[in-house]
Amino acid sequence: MTTDKEPLGQSDIPEEESAYDMALQQFNEAAEVLDLEQGIAEYLRRPQRELTVNFPVRMDSGDIRMFTGYRVQHNLSRGPAKGGIRYHTMVSLDEVKALAMWMTWKCAVTDIPYGGAKGGVTFDPKQMSSNELERLTRRYASEISVLIGPEKDIPAPDVNTNPQVMAWIMDTYSMHHGYSVPGVVTGKPLEIGGSLGRLDATGRGCMIVAAREMTRRGKSLQGATVAVQGLGNVGYHAIRLLEAQGCRIVAVTDSSGGCYSDPGVAPELDIEKLRAWKASGMPLVECPGVDYITNEELLAMPCDILVLAAMEGQITPKNALGVRAGIIIEGANGPITPRADAILEDMGVQVVPDILANAGGVVASYFEWVQGLQHDFWEQEEVEQRLEKVMSKAFEQVVAMSQEKKITMRKAALLLGISRVVKAIELRGIYP
Ligand code: NAD
Repeated sequence: MTTDKEPLGQSDIPEEESAYDMALQQFNEAAEVLDLEQGIAEYLRRPQRELTVNFPVRMDSGDIRMFTGYRVQHNLSRGPAKGGIRYHTMVSLDEVKALAMWMTWKCAVTDIPYGGAKGGVTFDPKQMSSNELERLTRRYASEISVLIGPEKDIPAPDVNTNPQVMAWIMDTYSMHHGYSVPGVVTGKPLEIGGSLGRLDATGRGCMIVAAREMTRRGKSLQGATVAVQGLGNVGYHAIRLLEAQGCRIVAVTDSSGGCYSDPGVAPELDIEKLRAWKASGMPLVECPGVDYITNEELLAMPCDILVLAAMEGQITPKNALGVRAGIIIEGANGPITPRADAILEDMGVQVVPDILANAGGVVASYFEWVQGLQHDFWEQEEVEQRLEKVMSKAFEQVVAMSQEKKITMRKAALLLGISRVVKAIELRGIYP
């Protein structure tokens, strides 16, 4: 791979921007191409609603600790707000605003009738007992209940949250109302109104777009080498489904680092064993019997497909030139900064952008919401077929736009998503 960019000296590389700066930069570039009216562009740059909550939680020790959480609704023009809830030490209002804006574009790219939202609480869930986590979740759900609701804003799982957390939120909201309100969250356990196929839907979406991109290149997933950053919900299911299509997983990491397997030399990675190791609370780098790598080494791993399924800001101008993958699938939100994006474009690396690549989760969440509202639940096969249809259509529309305008898939996805939101605003008009 070559690049005509001058290699940057370490001191020339500017500090990376925040997630919200990244989201704004992407939006501004798209707004310019779309020639958006100034007022509409300004409307879309700002979240419609931002809620910060400070709340107490009784710890197992008997002490009271204060926590800060957020819920942001970016834009509601296309329908109720939709977006995950994240538990992480790095959660900030800025990050939640960025993630909410990306949700708006994601729902529009896949043409599902939602606006974008996101929420989170700033803390390390690994340092909490299950009882403390339940009390924190219930109190946070109460605090944001002024915004959420099945017709208003429907949370879902994100980093460090899962179906159990969704069940606690659903129960708390239902207790306030005096009856069960399953439609207030998606990503619920099946027993209380979840959908078959929701748990692995984001990973499945990553697999679907990876297969489409390989087909576009006259290749298939059979025998393709894949490296994956993040072995959580998205990363694990992406790996499982890519392996089922004949891919060879050459490396996987979590926040501690991870392991690799040289094709033709070492035996294949046993993903179920690695997953079980992680589920026991142990970091990947301490798993016995594997060859270790750092996250930086994973990002520079020679492979056909690199799946980024961890956090934002992973590929920056500092490490972009080291990337040796042909295709990057953004399973995570915002894992590549705008300046790194430009470098990868020059290098000829095809990035399938987050607002398309990881949309499988919100599409299946939409299916769960629809099934719940109709009290009519679908077979797994039906969920998977519908997901494949929605993801494939969105992929083809983004590719068509990128070819027509000779722009990257990210810019094309943004143009498609933003123009659909703008159309909804125009049709509805500016109130009053
Ligand atoms: P998760 O909590 O299940 O897993 C996150 C994984 O990333 C963990 O294995 C963690 O160890 C790893 N990780 C964290 N920081 C890392 C780092 N610096 N380097 C390497 N690995 C690191 O979370 P998830 O639900 O799989 O979400 C992952 C990403 O996908 C997030 O960006 C999230 O917003 C996005 N996403 C998730 C969904 C969903 O349905 N869960 C949908 C769309 C997008």
